[in-house]
Amino acid sequence: MIAVAPPPQSTRPEPLIGSRISELKKTVSASRLNCWQTCRLKFYFRYVLKIKRAQSAALFVGSMVHLILQTWNLARWRNLPFDLPSLKPKFEANWVEKQKDQTIRWENEEKEQKKTSWSLLETYFRQTPIPVNERPQAVEVSVEADLAEHGLPTLIGVIDLVRAGGRVVDFKTSGQTPNAERAVHLNETQLSSYAVLYRAAVGKPESGLELHHLVKLKSPKLVVTSTEPMKPYQQTRLFRIMESYLNGLDRQDWIPSPSPMACACCEYFNECRRWS
Ligand code: SF4
Repeated sequence: MIAVAPPPQSTRPEPLIGSRISELKKTVSASRLNCWQTCRLKFYFRYVLKIKRAQSAALFVGSMVHLILQTWNLARWRNLPFDLPSLKPKFEANWVEKQKDQTIRWENEEKEQKKTSWSLLETYFRQTPIPVNERPQAVEVSVEADLAEHGLPTLIGVIDLVRAGGRVVDFKTSGQTPNAERAVHLNETQLSSYAVLYRAAVGKPESGLELHHLVKLKSPKLVVTSTEPMKPYQQTRLFRIMESYLNGLDRQDWIPSPSPMACACCEYFNECRRWS
């Protein structure tokens, strides 16, 4: 018989955990809900214990692409001229600046990732369905929705772009070409959250929701997935997820949810193996 030693206990600073849980119950965001749905143990390491980890290369690339897209959206909002080549110095400077206070897990491919980031942006501006003269309704706007009347925390978030006429847009970078139905399904928590936030801010429903996926292929491409305004059943689903979040925090329900996709890129793999 092989004897397996029990894993070491993780350190649990109980009073601190109690106060963090209280904070996490006051507000919630789409990214926190997504993490909660993916794996509650990962949520515990990230949001309750607040264990810091080096950022992944994919996340850093996504943030740099976002930065330039935000600059473009703001230029249209302010009726200013815009051309991508003139933003290359800003891109280069931010690439260095944003690494000063954080470590990125480059795995020896920073140069390649930088090239990919710029190439994604060139692709976006060649293929975007947004006309250059379309003035946005809002850009990178912080919004919150008080859901106390539903017994839920305040929903908070930042919406990338609201197009003219009230179409809510979220920009994404991805390693694979998304399938439209699956993309809407996988991003439903986020899309419904933005719809709730938009309605709270504007007082009427959005006219539609769009995912703009920039796909990191050898020849990058843009895939735009449009979907209808959030339906009542989708809001109900979101609210049920938020209830599960609240109840789970009360129970300190940190069970692991191993899956090939989630665990392959989980920065807490070692903590997870030791957790009991
Ligand atoms: S390794 Fe997998 S099961 Fe463990 S915390 Fe990460 S995502 Fe969850």
